[in-house]
Amino acid sequence: MNPRILGLHHITAIAGQAQRNYNFYSKLLGMHFIKKTVNFDDPNTYHFYYGDATGAAGTILTFFPWGDVVTGRPGVGQASAVSYSVPAGSFPFWMQRLEESQVPYQLLEERFGEPCLAFTDPDGLSLEFVISNTHDERVPWTTAEVGAEVALRGFHAVQLTLGRAAATVALLTEVFGYQLLRQQGGRCRLTTDAVPEAAIVDVIETVNGSQGHVAGGSVHHVAFRVADDATLQHFREVLVRRGLHVTPQIDRQYFHSLYFREPGGVLFEIATDNPGFLIDEPLAELGTHLLLPPQHEVRRAQITARLPQIL
Ligand code: ZN
Repeated sequence: MNPRILGLHHITAIAGQAQRNYNFYSKLLGMHFIKKTVNFDDPNTYHFYYGDATGAAGTILTFFPWGDVVTGRPGVGQASAVSYSVPAGSFPFWMQRLEESQVPYQLLEERFGEPCLAFTDPDGLSLEFVISNTHDERVPWTTAEVGAEVALRGFHAVQLTLGRAAATVALLTEVFGYQLLRQQGGRCRLTTDAVPEAAIVDVIETVNGSQGHVAGGSVHHVAFRVADDATLQHFREVLVRRGLHVTPQIDRQYFHSLYFREPGGVLFEIATDNPGFLIDEPLAELGTHLLLPPQHEVRRAQITARLPQIL
């Protein structure tokens, strides 16, 4: 066993209305709606998963659509932006598509030599489309409106905004195998060579920043990827030895997970590749059923009655 963190696994955020979330990510951005399930800790709300064809790690953005949720407050101790890799030449398409849907966007100054298009989702979550310096080999999910020449490849990076960055950077470099690549302004870019993509964590230190509040439009947690349960257990032991409070391994149906709050305040998860999203739906039917884990299946009728219909 070579216990390595294999970049990002998924990122989970909090949304408001489920239908609006679905329209934005599935229809407008053309992501694959790979799983419709419930929040296992609160089965009266949905848990939506979006990704590529199979829901490969490093492409998966998930949401808890909580309905009438209060809007979060950006600040320190949060994952403050999610960035996706898109192909060179795709920005005109995306700018026109965002404009047609009245989504304001901003072309940012190049960051580490990479062009960046920034906008927010309907709940205020900060998103970025980035044209990566390195060729992204991932095969995209495509739709009738979003073809392969413009479609999202998967995560480029996650951005953390922290009051003090040192302890988080130490965790990422000493335990997670990331290296400090470059610094630009207040932004430190950390990368891992364990995977070719979804390998970047950007850390921004804002010493006098006020604490953020995680709610609608905020990232709830950032999940890093490991190959299997044995690797998960290895990292659990290492994190516990560092004095971090780590949950036991939890069965999330599609992966096995542990959670801990990193020293900068962001909720981190480590999640396995196994068993994957095909465990309860065939590939051609991903996202088409309401799927409940065994502990909630017995209450299917009550749960279904409370959830809004998604079209
Ligand atoms: Zn998660």
